Amino acid sequence: MKIGFIGLGNMGGPMAANLARAGHQIAGFDLVAPCPEGVTKAASASEAATGAEVVITMLPNGAILRAVAAEAIPAMAAGAVLCDCSTVDVESARAVADQAQAAGLGALDAPVSGGVGGATAGTLTFMVGGSDAAFATVQPLFEIMGQKSVHCGAAGAGQAAKICNNMILGATMAVTCEAFALADKLGLDRARMFDVVSTSSGYSWSMNAYCPAPGIGPQSPADNDYKPGFAAELMLKDLRLSQQAAEAVNADTPMGARATELYASFVEAEDGKGRDFSALLPRFAARSRS
Ligand code: NAD
Repeated sequence: MKIGFIGLGNMGGPMAANLARAGHQIAGFDLVAPCPEGVTKAASASEAATGAEVVITMLPNGAILRAVAAEAIPAMAAGAVLCDCSTVDVESARAVADQAQAAGLGALDAPVSGGVGGATAGTLTFMVGGSDAAFATVQPLFEIMGQKSVHCGAAGAGQAAKICNNMILGATMAVTCEAFALADKLGLDRARMFDVVSTSSGYSWSMNAYCPAPGIGPQSPADNDYKPGFAAELMLKDLRLSQQAAEAVNADTPMGARATELYASFVEAEDGKGRDFSALLPRFAARSRS
Protein backbone atom coordinates (compact mmCIF):
# COMPACT_ATOMS: atom_id res chain seq x y z
CA MET A 1 0.00 0.00 0.00
CA LYS A 2 1.11 3.58 -0.57
CA ILE A 3 1.11 5.29 2.83
CA GLY A 4 1.84 8.82 4.03
CA PHE A 5 3.09 8.95 7.63
CA ILE A 6 3.15 12.31 9.40
CA GLY A 7 4.76 12.55 12.87
CA LEU A 8 7.78 10.27 13.21
CA GLY A 9 8.56 10.77 16.92
CA ASN A 10 8.89 8.23 19.71
CA MET A 11 5.75 6.39 18.62
CA GLY A 12 5.37 7.27 14.92
CA GLY A 13 9.01 6.42 14.04
CA PRO A 14 8.86 2.75 15.03
CA MET A 15 5.28 2.38 13.72
CA ALA A 16 6.34 3.66 10.28
CA ALA A 17 9.44 1.44 10.39
CA ASN A 18 7.27 -1.64 11.00
CA LEU A 19 5.02 -0.77 8.04
CA ALA A 20 8.07 -0.28 5.80
CA ARG A 21 9.55 -3.59 6.95
CA ALA A 22 6.28 -5.31 5.99
CA GLY A 23 6.78 -4.09 2.42
CA HIS A 24 4.58 -0.99 2.30
CA GLN A 25 5.72 2.11 0.50
CA ILE A 26 5.96 4.94 3.03
CA ALA A 27 6.46 8.67 2.50
CA GLY A 28 7.22 10.18 5.92
CA PHE A 29 7.19 13.76 7.18
CA ASP A 30 8.19 15.26 10.51
CA LEU A 31 9.31 18.79 11.41
CA VAL A 32 12.25 17.48 13.43
CA ALA A 33 12.50 13.70 13.79
CA PRO A 34 14.52 11.75 11.21
CA CYS A 35 12.91 9.21 8.88
CA PRO A 36 13.39 5.63 10.04
CA GLU A 37 15.04 3.11 7.74
CA GLY A 38 12.89 2.16 4.75
CA VAL A 39 10.78 5.35 4.88
CA THR A 40 11.18 7.93 2.11
CA LYS A 41 11.44 11.50 3.34
CA ALA A 42 8.75 13.92 2.14
CA ALA A 43 9.29 17.68 2.18
CA SER A 44 5.90 18.53 3.69
CA ALA A 45 2.71 17.02 5.08
CA SER A 46 0.96 17.58 1.77
CA GLU A 47 3.78 15.88 -0.15
CA ALA A 48 3.57 12.86 2.18
CA ALA A 49 -0.20 12.74 1.61
CA THR A 50 -0.13 13.07 -2.18
CA GLY A 51 -1.04 9.79 -3.88
CA ALA A 52 -1.35 7.90 -0.58
CA GLU A 53 -4.12 5.34 -0.09
CA VAL A 54 -3.83 5.82 3.67
CA VAL A 55 -2.35 8.78 5.57
CA ILE A 56 -1.42 8.06 9.19
CA THR A 57 -0.76 10.88 11.66
CA MET A 58 0.99 10.47 15.05
CA LEU A 59 1.19 13.97 16.54
CA PRO A 60 1.39 15.65 19.95
CA ASN A 61 -2.09 17.19 20.29
CA GLY A 62 -5.40 18.22 18.72
CA ALA A 63 -4.33 21.69 17.59
CA ILE A 64 -1.36 20.27 15.67
CA LEU A 65 -3.54 17.50 14.25
CA ARG A 66 -6.05 20.08 12.96
CA ALA A 67 -3.26 22.09 11.31
CA VAL A 68 -1.65 19.03 9.70
CA ALA A 69 -5.04 17.69 8.54
CA ALA A 70 -5.83 21.01 6.89
CA GLU A 71 -2.64 20.57 4.83
CA ALA A 72 -2.95 16.87 4.13
CA ILE A 73 -6.65 16.58 3.25
CA PRO A 74 -6.58 18.72 0.06
CA ALA A 75 -3.63 16.65 -1.19
CA MET A 76 -5.44 13.32 -0.78
CA ALA A 77 -7.39 11.57 -3.53
CA ALA A 78 -11.09 10.76 -3.03
CA GLY A 79 -11.52 7.37 -1.37
CA ALA A 80 -8.23 7.52 0.54
CA VAL A 81 -8.34 7.24 4.34
CA LEU A 82 -6.95 9.65 6.93
CA CYS A 83 -6.13 7.68 10.09
CA ASP A 84 -5.06 9.62 13.16
CA CYS A 85 -3.31 7.52 15.82
CA SER A 86 -2.45 10.43 18.17
CA THR A 87 -4.19 10.89 21.50
CA VAL A 88 -6.24 14.08 21.09
CA ASP A 89 -9.49 15.61 22.36
CA VAL A 90 -12.70 14.07 21.06
CA GLU A 91 -13.78 17.40 19.55
CA SER A 92 -10.65 17.69 17.36
CA ALA A 93 -11.01 14.05 16.30
CA ARG A 94 -14.61 14.67 15.19
CA ALA A 95 -13.77 17.99 13.48
CA VAL A 96 -10.99 16.40 11.44
CA ALA A 97 -13.22 13.44 10.54
CA ASP A 98 -15.95 15.86 9.33
CA GLN A 99 -13.43 17.75 7.22
CA ALA A 100 -12.07 14.54 5.70
CA GLN A 101 -15.55 13.23 4.92
CA ALA A 102 -16.52 16.51 3.30
CA ALA A 103 -13.54 16.03 0.98
CA GLY A 104 -14.70 12.52 0.01
CA LEU A 105 -12.17 10.74 2.23
CA GLY A 106 -12.52 8.05 4.86
CA ALA A 107 -11.49 9.04 8.39
CA LEU A 108 -10.53 7.13 11.52
CA ASP A 109 -9.47 8.14 15.01
CA ALA A 110 -7.30 5.27 16.18
CA PRO A 111 -5.37 6.09 19.36
CA VAL A 112 -3.14 3.40 20.76
CA SER A 113 -2.14 1.84 24.00
CA GLY A 114 1.15 0.02 24.49
CA GLY A 115 3.68 2.86 24.56
CA VAL A 116 7.04 3.03 22.80
CA GLY A 117 7.75 -0.64 23.62
CA GLY A 118 4.52 -1.69 21.91
CA ALA A 119 5.19 0.60 18.93
CA THR A 120 8.64 -0.91 18.45
CA ALA A 121 7.54 -4.52 18.92
CA GLY A 122 4.40 -4.06 16.77
CA THR A 123 2.13 -5.05 19.67
CA LEU A 124 0.01 -1.91 20.08
CA THR A 125 -3.74 -1.98 20.73
CA PHE A 126 -5.76 0.34 18.47
CA MET A 127 -9.09 1.80 19.64
CA VAL A 128 -10.86 2.94 16.52
CA GLY A 129 -13.70 5.31 15.66
CA GLY A 130 -15.05 5.78 12.12
CA SER A 131 -16.92 3.98 9.35
CA ASP A 132 -16.84 0.22 8.68
CA ALA A 133 -15.36 0.82 5.22
CA ALA A 134 -12.47 2.98 6.50
CA PHE A 135 -11.80 0.49 9.30
CA ALA A 136 -11.66 -2.38 6.79
CA THR A 137 -9.13 -0.47 4.65
CA VAL A 138 -6.73 0.23 7.52
CA GLN A 139 -7.19 -2.98 9.54
CA PRO A 140 -4.33 -4.84 7.76
CA LEU A 141 -2.02 -1.99 8.80
CA PHE A 142 -3.25 -2.17 12.41
CA GLU A 143 -2.33 -5.86 12.32
CA ILE A 144 1.27 -4.98 11.38
CA MET A 145 1.67 -2.16 13.91
CA GLY A 146 -0.28 -3.89 16.67
CA GLN A 147 -1.76 -7.08 17.99
CA LYS A 148 -5.33 -5.93 18.46
CA SER A 149 -7.70 -3.36 16.99
CA VAL A 150 -11.18 -2.73 18.33
CA HIS A 151 -13.72 -0.87 16.21
CA CYS A 152 -15.42 1.15 18.96
CA GLY A 153 -18.04 3.04 16.92
CA ALA A 154 -18.40 6.26 14.93
CA ALA A 155 -15.90 9.15 14.72
CA GLY A 156 -14.53 10.05 18.16
CA ALA A 157 -15.30 6.65 19.72
CA GLY A 158 -11.64 5.60 19.65
CA GLN A 159 -10.56 8.71 21.55
CA ALA A 160 -13.46 8.23 23.97
CA ALA A 161 -12.30 4.66 24.73
CA LYS A 162 -8.71 5.80 25.16
CA ILE A 163 -9.44 8.58 27.66
CA CYS A 164 -11.90 6.46 29.66
CA ASN A 165 -9.26 3.70 29.91
CA ASN A 166 -6.55 6.13 30.96
CA MET A 167 -8.80 7.89 33.46
CA ILE A 168 -9.27 4.49 35.13
CA LEU A 169 -5.51 3.89 34.93
CA GLY A 170 -4.59 7.27 36.48
CA ALA A 171 -7.02 6.95 39.37
CA THR A 172 -6.12 3.29 39.96
CA MET A 173 -2.38 3.94 39.97
CA ALA A 174 -2.84 6.86 42.38
CA VAL A 175 -4.84 4.81 44.88
CA THR A 176 -2.48 1.83 44.55
CA CYS A 177 0.46 4.11 45.39
CA GLU A 178 -1.29 5.74 48.33
CA ALA A 179 -2.29 2.31 49.66
CA PHE A 180 1.37 1.17 49.63
CA ALA A 181 2.38 4.35 51.48
CA LEU A 182 -0.40 3.75 54.04
CA ALA A 183 0.73 0.12 54.41
CA ASP A 184 4.29 1.34 55.14
CA LYS A 185 3.04 3.55 57.94
CA LEU A 186 0.89 0.74 59.33
CA GLY A 187 3.98 -1.49 59.46
CA LEU A 188 2.69 -3.85 56.75
CA ASP A 189 5.44 -5.34 54.60
CA ARG A 190 5.11 -4.33 50.92
CA ALA A 191 5.68 -7.85 49.62
CA ARG A 192 2.92 -9.24 51.88
CA MET A 193 0.65 -6.40 50.80
CA PHE A 194 1.29 -7.31 47.13
CA ASP A 195 0.64 -11.02 47.83
CA VAL A 196 -2.72 -10.22 49.36
CA VAL A 197 -3.98 -7.44 47.07
CA SER A 198 -2.82 -8.98 43.78
CA THR A 199 -5.03 -11.99 44.52
CA SER A 200 -7.87 -10.10 46.26
CA SER A 201 -10.54 -7.65 45.22
CA GLY A 202 -8.10 -4.70 45.17
CA TYR A 203 -6.19 -6.21 42.26
CA SER A 204 -5.72 -4.20 39.08
CA TRP A 205 -3.30 -3.76 36.20
CA SER A 206 -1.51 -1.08 38.26
CA MET A 207 -0.93 -3.53 41.12
CA ASN A 208 -0.50 -6.83 39.29
CA ALA A 209 1.26 -5.95 36.03
CA TYR A 210 2.96 -2.62 36.79
CA CYS A 211 3.50 -2.72 40.56
CA PRO A 212 4.74 0.73 41.71
CA ALA A 213 6.81 -0.77 44.56
CA PRO A 214 10.41 -1.65 43.58
CA GLY A 215 11.43 -5.29 43.79
CA ILE A 216 7.87 -6.55 43.98
CA GLY A 217 5.78 -8.23 41.29
CA PRO A 218 6.85 -8.37 37.63
CA GLN A 219 9.58 -6.03 36.32
CA SER A 220 8.25 -2.47 36.07
CA PRO A 221 9.66 1.09 35.93
CA ALA A 222 9.76 1.03 39.76
CA ASP A 223 12.65 -1.45 39.36
CA ASN A 224 14.49 1.03 37.15
CA ASP A 225 14.41 4.08 39.41
CA TYR A 226 11.03 5.10 37.95
CA LYS A 227 12.43 5.91 34.51
CA PRO A 228 9.46 5.83 32.09
CA GLY A 229 7.70 3.61 31.03
CA PHE A 230 4.77 5.88 30.79
CA ALA A 231 5.83 9.37 31.84
CA ALA A 232 3.75 11.24 34.42
CA GLU A 233 3.30 14.19 32.02
CA LEU A 234 1.72 11.88 29.40
CA MET A 235 -0.67 10.58 32.04
CA LEU A 236 -1.49 14.20 32.91
CA LYS A 237 -2.20 14.94 29.25
CA ASP A 238 -4.66 12.04 29.02
CA LEU A 239 -6.33 12.89 32.34
CA ARG A 240 -6.84 16.47 31.17
CA LEU A 241 -8.41 15.19 27.95
CA SER A 242 -10.77 13.06 30.07
CA GLN A 243 -11.81 16.12 32.07
CA GLN A 244 -12.21 18.25 28.94
CA ALA A 245 -14.50 15.56 27.50
CA ALA A 246 -16.39 15.18 30.79
CA GLU A 247 -17.04 18.91 30.85
CA ALA A 248 -18.23 18.93 27.24
CA VAL A 249 -20.88 16.26 27.94
CA ASN A 250 -21.61 17.26 31.57
CA ALA A 251 -20.42 13.95 33.07
CA ASP A 252 -19.62 13.79 36.79
CA THR A 253 -16.07 12.36 37.15
CA PRO A 254 -14.83 13.19 40.67
CA MET A 255 -12.12 10.49 40.80
CA GLY A 256 -10.82 11.49 37.39
CA ALA A 257 -10.82 15.13 38.48
CA ARG A 258 -8.85 14.34 41.65
CA ALA A 259 -6.34 12.20 39.73
CA THR A 260 -5.89 15.10 37.29
CA GLU A 261 -5.16 17.54 40.13
CA LEU A 262 -2.73 15.11 41.69
CA TYR A 263 -0.75 14.51 38.50
CA ALA A 264 -0.82 18.25 37.69
CA SER A 265 0.78 19.01 41.04
CA PHE A 266 3.28 16.14 40.67
CA VAL A 267 4.37 17.20 37.17
CA GLU A 268 4.13 20.98 37.38
CA ALA A 269 4.89 21.87 41.00
CA GLU A 270 7.00 18.90 42.15
CA ASP A 271 9.60 16.54 40.65
CA GLY A 272 7.30 14.32 38.58
CA LYS A 273 8.18 15.52 35.07
CA GLY A 274 10.23 12.89 33.24
CA ARG A 275 9.50 10.23 35.85
CA ASP A 276 7.23 7.25 35.37
CA PHE A 277 3.62 7.81 36.42
CA SER A 278 4.03 5.15 39.14
CA ALA A 279 6.55 7.43 40.91
CA LEU A 280 3.60 8.71 42.92
CA LEU A 281 4.58 5.99 45.40
CA PRO A 282 7.84 7.61 46.61
CA ARG A 283 5.94 10.92 46.58
CA PHE A 284 3.27 9.63 48.95
CA ALA A 285 5.84 7.73 51.04
CA ALA A 286 7.76 10.95 51.68
CA ARG A 287 4.71 12.95 52.72
CA SER A 288 2.39 13.15 55.66
CA ARG A 289 -1.31 13.80 55.79
CA SER A 290 -1.35 17.60 55.69
P1 NAD B 1 6.68 12.75 20.10
O1 NAD B 1 6.71 14.14 20.60
O2 NAD B 1 7.88 11.87 20.28
O3 NAD B 1 6.32 12.73 18.52
C1 NAD B 1 5.48 13.66 17.89
C2 NAD B 1 6.18 14.08 16.61
O4 NAD B 1 5.34 14.96 15.88
C3 NAD B 1 7.50 14.84 16.85
O5 NAD B 1 8.57 14.14 16.22
C4 NAD B 1 7.26 16.20 16.22
O6 NAD B 1 8.39 16.75 15.60
C5 NAD B 1 6.18 15.88 15.22
N1 NAD B 1 5.42 17.05 14.80
C6 NAD B 1 4.91 18.04 15.58
N2 NAD B 1 4.26 18.95 14.81
C7 NAD B 1 4.35 18.50 13.53
C8 NAD B 1 3.90 18.99 12.29
N3 NAD B 1 3.20 20.13 12.20
N4 NAD B 1 4.19 18.29 11.17
C9 NAD B 1 4.89 17.14 11.24
N5 NAD B 1 5.37 16.62 12.40
C10 NAD B 1 5.10 17.30 13.52
O7 NAD B 1 5.40 12.07 20.77
P2 NAD B 1 5.04 10.50 20.85
O8 NAD B 1 5.47 9.97 22.16
O9 NAD B 1 5.46 9.85 19.58
O10 NAD B 1 3.45 10.59 20.91
C11 NAD B 1 2.65 10.83 19.76
C12 NAD B 1 1.20 10.68 20.14
O11 NAD B 1 0.97 9.36 20.66
C13 NAD B 1 0.73 11.65 21.23
O12 NAD B 1 -0.56 12.10 20.91
C14 NAD B 1 0.75 10.80 22.49
O13 NAD B 1 -0.19 11.25 23.46
C15 NAD B 1 0.36 9.45 21.93
N6 NAD B 1 0.82 8.30 22.74
C16 NAD B 1 2.09 8.26 23.21
C17 NAD B 1 2.49 7.17 23.97
C18 NAD B 1 3.90 7.10 24.52
O14 NAD B 1 4.15 6.25 25.39
N7 NAD B 1 4.83 7.90 24.04
C19 NAD B 1 1.60 6.13 24.24
C20 NAD B 1 0.32 6.17 23.70
C21 NAD B 1 -0.07 7.28 22.96
